[in-house]
Order: sequence, then C-alpha cells, then structure tokens
Amino acid sequence: MPKVFVGVGSNLGDRASYLEFAQKELLSCGVTVAEYSPVYETEPVEAEGGPFLNAVWSFDTQLAAPVLLEKLQQIEAKANRQRNKLHEARTLDLDILFYGDQVIHEPGFVVPHPKLHERAFVLVPFCDLAPEWMHPVLGRTMKQLLEELHSPHGVRRIPRGCVAEAYSAKQSPNTIPRWQDS
Ligand code: ADP
Ligand code: MG
Repeated sequence: MPKVFVGVGSNLGDRASYLEFAQKELLSCGVTVAEYSPVYETEPVEAEGGPFLNAVWSFDTQLAAPVLLEKLQQIEAKANRQRNKLHEARTLDLDILFYGDQVIHEPGFVVPHPKLHERAFVLVPFCDLAPEWMHPVLGRTMKQLLEELHSPHGVRRIPRGCVAEAYSAKQSPNTIPRWQDS
C-alpha cells in the first residue's frame, strides 16, 4: 500500500476544530492516520485571511489517488469550505503532498504537490514525520529541501495539548501564549 502524505491547513473559523473534524472524517472513509506532525501556526502564503494552523499527516491507503482526492474534497466541502475565488481564506484545506513515489500530472491533479518544496509550512511539519523522505522528482530529501529553503520564517510550533483550547481564530495573535519548540 502506498504511503500518503497530506498537508492540512485552516485559517478560518475555529481552526483546531476543523483539523479535528478532518481526522474524524478520514476515519469514517476507511483511512486511519498513522502519524500526525505537531501543529504549527503559520503566516499566510498566497492566501487571504489570518494565520493558519498547519500540519502534515501520513497514512497507508488502499484508495487510489484520484479517489482519495475526491474524498478529501468531500471532507473540505463538509467543513463548509467555500471556493468563490482563488486564495480566499479557508476553513479546511487538504492537499495530497505525496502518494508513495507516484508522479501524477493530470488536469486538476498534480502529485507531488507542485509547491510543497517552496513552503516552510509544509516542509517544517513534514520533517517532523519523515525528514529522509525522498522527493521522487527533485531527488532531494525533505530535510535537504528545508535546508535549501531561503526563508523558512513565519512557522511556529504549538506545544502539544494547547491546540484546541488556545487557537481559535477569534483570538487576536497577541493573546496567543509564547511559542515554544517542544
Ligand atoms: P490550494 O490548496 O493550492 O490553496 P485549492 O485547495 O483551492 O488550492 O485547490 C485548487 C485545486 O488544486 C483543486 O481543485 C484540486 O483539484 C487541485 N489539486 C491539484 N493537485 C492537488 C493535490 N495534489 N492535492 C490537492 N488538490 C490538488
Ligand atoms: Mg488545497
């Protein structure tokens, strides 16, 4: 079974609840997430709205890649994800980063995700899970890609146990407790 990595993000509404919702929904479509990265709060990149909560999850699945994409989009829709315009703030974003070492180039579906190597909000949590994972197109490990990133700023780990209570989008960033590397 191929190992899948999914990038998860939310910057609208009760962000932590949307992440939790996505975990439960994945379970109900037969996917058991095997590994969760810590959750990070990150500055928006190419997106409107406030800071994101981001994480990377990995699991094995028997779902074919296009079927998995469809499931993820259904989960986004159930989380009230609006798609009115490009780059708008979103309650839930679920991107397939890797589907094993498969390379897919279809209209509306590209794997590995074409921007993952440019994004600290993906590479940082990814490296918590699988720093030695090899990008099948770029031929670099995730750790190497992170080291080569010019500006890995704007990504702060949330201590475990603080995600649900402290990080609803209703709070101003000033009320968020000090970030720690835990
Ligand atoms: P983004 O995640 O880039 O901010 P969206 O979530 O709005 O943007 O997705 C835009 C489109 O990207 C979707 O319609 C989806 O079909 C497409 N897409 C292409 N490749 C992938 C992938 N690997 N994972 C998820 N969506 C993808
Ligand atoms: Mg997306």
